[in-house]
Amino acid sequence: GSMTILEKFEQELEKHGLTKEVKLVKTGCFGLCEAGPIVIVYPEGAFYSRIKLEDVERITEEHLLKGRIVKDLLHKEAVDEDKIKSINEVGFYKKQKRIALRNCGVINPENIEEYIAMDGYRALGKVLTEMKPEEVIEVIKKSGLRGRGGGGFPTGLKWEFTAKATGDQKYVACNADEGDPGAFMDRSILEGDPHVIVEAMAIAGYAVGANQGYVYIRAEYPIAVKRLQIAIDQAREYGLLGKDIFGSGFDFDLEIRLGAGAFVCGEETALLQSIEGKRGMPRPRPPFPAIKGLWDKPTLLNNVETYANVPQIILNGPEWFASIGTEKSKGTKVFALGGKINNTGLLEIPMGTTLREVIFEIGGGIPNGKKFKAVQTGGPSGGCLKEEHLDTPIDYDNLIALGSMMGSGGMIVMDEDNCMVDIARFFLDFTVDESCGKCTPCREGTKRMLEILEKITSGKGEPEDLERLENLANTIKSASLCGLGQTAPNPVLSTLKYFRHEYEAHVYDKK
Ligand code: SF4
Repeated sequence: GSMTILEKFEQELEKHGLTKEVKLVKTGCFGLCEAGPIVIVYPEGAFYSRIKLEDVERITEEHLLKGRIVKDLLHKEAVDEDKIKSINEVGFYKKQKRIALRNCGVINPENIEEYIAMDGYRALGKVLTEMKPEEVIEVIKKSGLRGRGGGGFPTGLKWEFTAKATGDQKYVACNADEGDPGAFMDRSILEGDPHVIVEAMAIAGYAVGANQGYVYIRAEYPIAVKRLQIAIDQAREYGLLGKDIFGSGFDFDLEIRLGAGAFVCGEETALLQSIEGKRGMPRPRPPFPAIKGLWDKPTLLNNVETYANVPQIILNGPEWFASIGTEKSKGTKVFALGGKINNTGLLEIPMGTTLREVIFEIGGGIPNGKKFKAVQTGGPSGGCLKEEHLDTPIDYDNLIALGSMMGSGGMIVMDEDNCMVDIARFFLDFTVDESCGKCTPCREGTKRMLEILEKITSGKGEPEDLERLENLANTIKSASLCGLGQTAPNPVLSTLKYFRHEYEAHVYDKK
């Protein structure tokens, strides 16, 4: 309902002759989806939440005309007796550190000047006028930034491999094919701050020696596609894309390619095939895209969130970025928090924050007084963790050691009512649907696993099924061609490890 609220504000401002005094800004998502639609009024920073159409008149007449904050419409944590608290004092935001999301919910994403006012394109200017390409790569390497799309590969190394690869033509590409159930990090960045991706890709192009970039984005994200196209057009108009940017002699341009909704196209080699107009199917690596990517030319591929960190690293220095996070996982990570949790939404936390802090402090705990049971991280490629893991600091290595993974950032919370076998079945059902069918272990194996799970959940399971499930899962993990198949068994394996008693209850009690 946000758009109707915006229109109502336009009418009210017009009615009261306030169109010059009050600037109405349509921003991207500010993260706390649970409290939406959100309206923030400055300079007080009054944080109104769950605004309904009929509230607009009251805010206009009381706050905008008479300067009286409408306390009963404020978010419940944004007021403490008589003191009005800023949004950063609200529990959901207190522990967050926003680097990739810094402009989301703050600026109008369709206005390049608002981005420029927030230091936008200053990093590109610095790179093109003060730094050599190898110096840019050195900064990214030193920062410790790792790929945010799931793999966690060191970004600076990837840039270096592409820069050193030989080729008359090179490309940079952006993976915006976010397809995990429950994940909407990349979508929010593109909807809330599309210029950051344009700027970061131009920086990457300069660093690796590419003058053409492609953003591969899901067609199911129409607002993100529209805003990114507006950003590209505006950047061209301002001379920030195209020929001789900042008079540096560097040429760079960007184009959008739409994905048709295949999850496997998030896998890098399949994505590149799809950009070329072919059917998106993974191919064996090596050769890696840095050596042989788009049209067999060296290609740098990073995901949206990885790029979103780049301008801030250039501006604030690699030491600043490396001072945030844990020893091996630097910076922050964006998560989409969903499931049985009070504060559904999008958050960005320093690496090393614990799962408990995310779920109980930022997320506000489990609704309806229910008990926490599990948290699934990493989407269909990840695993389910339980109560005893809640104090684990979140980083790439800790999550993998527990049998889950960071993935791109989906985080789904389960309470005591969830059946973990059913959860595993849900994720496997998704991967069976999304398997591209190229290799047998994934195409056939995941189907057989799903059959066994369905047998178990319908009360027909036998004790041997658990062993069969485990054997199949391990075979698929080690024999599949791409990441989709290699990780598809994770939800089953992690629930078998941490919630085996639930499988046994189905098998032995025939429930
Ligand atoms: Fe396709 Fe699955 Fe094989 Fe990947 S693992 S290539 S998705 S069949």
